[in-house]
Formats: sequence, C-alpha cells, structure tokens
Amino acid sequence: MYGYAPGRANIIGEHVDYNDGYIFPFAIERKTTVLIKKSDDSSFRVRSKGYGAFVINPEKMEPRGDWTDYIQGVFWVLKRHDRFHLFPVTLEVDSDVPIGAGLSSSASVEVATLAALNGFFTLGLDKATLIAYAKEAENDFVGVQCGIMDQFASVMGKEDHAIFMDTRSGDFEYVPIDLDDKTFLVINSKVSHALGSGEYNRRRAECALCLNTLHRSSFRDISLAELENKRALLPPVAYLRGLHVLTEIERTCLCKTALLEKDWALVGRLLTQSHSSLRDNYQVSCEEIEYLIENLNQFSSVWGARIMGGGFGGSLIALVEERAVPKILAELSDKYFHRYGIRLEGYQVKPSKGAGYVDS
Ligand code: ADP
Ligand code: MG
Repeated sequence: MYGYAPGRANIIGEHVDYNDGYIFPFAIERKTTVLIKKSDDSSFRVRSKGYGAFVINPEKMEPRGDWTDYIQGVFWVLKRHDRFHLFPVTLEVDSDVPIGAGLSSSASVEVATLAALNGFFTLGLDKATLIAYAKEAENDFVGVQCGIMDQFASVMGKEDHAIFMDTRSGDFEYVPIDLDDKTFLVINSKVSHALGSGEYNRRRAECALCLNTLHRSSFRDISLAELENKRALLPPVAYLRGLHVLTEIERTCLCKTALLEKDWALVGRLLTQSHSSLRDNYQVSCEEIEYLIENLNQFSSVWGARIMGGGFGGSLIALVEERAVPKILAELSDKYFHRYGIRLEGYQVKPSKGAGYVDS
C-alpha cells in the first residue's frame, strides 16, 4: 500500500492564510508517495530517496532539525492524539515535488505519510483531521509556524479546480480553472535568503501589532478606509503589513471572478499588483526575484507574475501563454545565469487531485 500527497501552488492570496484572508491554491501534479509495509523486526524504519534512512523511536521522538522531523512529526502527532496503536512498519518516501521551491514539498511529505498510515492501519482519519494533524506536525514538531494553506491544498486538491478558501471561517469552494491556451508557470529562483522563518514569525508579530493597535481581532473587521484614517496611530511597519493584507484580500476575491470570466488581462494585473504589494508593503521580495519578475514582464506572452510562498527567494508564479513557455524559460534562464550564475528551474503547474492511498 502507498499513500500519496501533492505539492501545491497558490494563485493569489499570499501571507494572508494566517491573517483571516482568502487563499486560492490548487494541488499540483507533482507529489510525494510513501510506500508502507509491515516491518520485518520491531523497528519503525523510514527511508527517503535522496535523503537517507532513519529509525523512529516511538518512545523518544525529538526534532533533529532535518528531513526526518517531517515524518517523525506525523507519528508524534498521532501519539499526542492517542491514535498511535501501530505495529512497526517501514516507510519508503519518494517525491518529485521540488524542495524549497514554494511548492510545499514539506506538506506533501507530512500528508503522504499520514495518508499511508491512515490507509494501512484503517485509522479512519477524515480529511479535516488529516489537514489538522499534518499542520500540527509542521507547527509543533518541526517548529514552522505555517498557516493552513499547504496541508489544506494537498489534502483537498481536485483536478482542474482551484480552491477558494476563507481562512477565517474555513469555508471553501472549488473554482473550475479553464485557462484555454494559457498556463500557470512556476519559476524557482533557487535562492533562499535564509532569513526564512525568523522573518515569517516577525511578519506575524507585525500583523498582530497592527490589529492590537486598532483594537480589532481580525483584519476582516477593518476596512481599507479605516486603516488609512488611523495610519497616524500605527507604527509605519504595522501600517504597511496591514495595507498588504487588506489589499490582498480584495485582490484575491477579484481574481476568482476574473478567472471565471476568463478576463486574463485582469488576472495578470492582479498578480502584478499582488507582487508590488508583497515587495513594497510586506517586504518579502529580494533582488533575484525582482530581476526575474522585471525580465518576465518584458515578454508579451506573460500576463502577470508575482512572488509565491514565504518570500526572500523561492519561486514566482506567472500566467503565461502555454506555447511561449519554452522560449520564456530558455531566454530567462540564460539571462539569469549570466547575471547570478544560477540555473533557474521552471515548472508548468496544473490543478490536480489531492492526497489519498492506494492498496497495491
Ligand atoms: P517547501 O516550500 O518545499 O515546503 P520547506 O523548507 O518548507 O520547503 O520544506 C523542505 C524540507 O522538507 C526539506 O528540506 C526536507 O527536510 C523536507 N522534505 C521535502 N521533501 C522531502 C522528501 N522527499 N523526503 C524527506 N524530507 C523531505
Ligand atoms: Mg514547506
């Protein structure tokens, strides 16, 4: 038997999943699979292709600060919820989700591990529980304070649909995605300015400061007009973070309609505006990403692009004419290599099904 779980892309709605905003992700075709078998001995063995092997000690699970944490974390969460009545198994992990590319390889590993255990031991975990447990593994064991989006999209993905989700209420709807002769293209800058989680946690604190200063508990209870009126009360950084969140909430709603109406020019404009806000207001871009975005926008076959994921490197997502993908990637790759000596990677991404398991 094996469990599988895809990575994800997010069309728009960035850095708002922990700010009560709307997100608009979809599961991608690339996924992690976890082959599960009864162990020959009494140990829980894990092997991941390209990473190595590890033996989990269920009596003493501690984060090691490496890849094993994402898998140990899942066992740890099951134990925490008293669902760990498992006999020893071996897990073999394999994945074609690129790592650290903003396509959420980490959630795909967590969810695929859970899906394998869920299927093999007939744990009966429903989708909401899979999402919650995988997120807990990342938040409480790995120690990354991610929002709900990655695990949610990996579990809930549906072919040819993106998921428009209200992260305040948890309500969501599937939105059919028919891009005609266009496609979403993800480009990995291959740089990661390791400020990563520190900056992420700081952004969360700055958003909380914005809310506290305005005596509100949610960005959904503040209008843009109110933010502007009360600007003088706010530390400049808290104002900027709030400005991003509130405008991004608006853009995400507009983008859903624009995609349904196939208004490509508007979709492109919203992506571009989202990028400007992530760069200027949320301040999570970096030189290499700016170089890529500027050069991408020179192509007439590109409708719009924005940085995707946590920021400070990683990937961008663009809406482009599908036939132009090889030319865009070849030219951009050459320029980028000349400028930074780094080979970028490009992936066409297509809305695909979510996690599951197969009894093979
Ligand atoms: P991403 O945007 O890809 O989720 P993260 O930094 O959140 O980036 O997660 C990447 C980490 O997830 C890797 O450094 C590794 O520890 C773990 N990981 C990803 N893929 C695998 C895999 N196939 N096997 C084991 N661990 C993996
Ligand atoms: Mg991740």
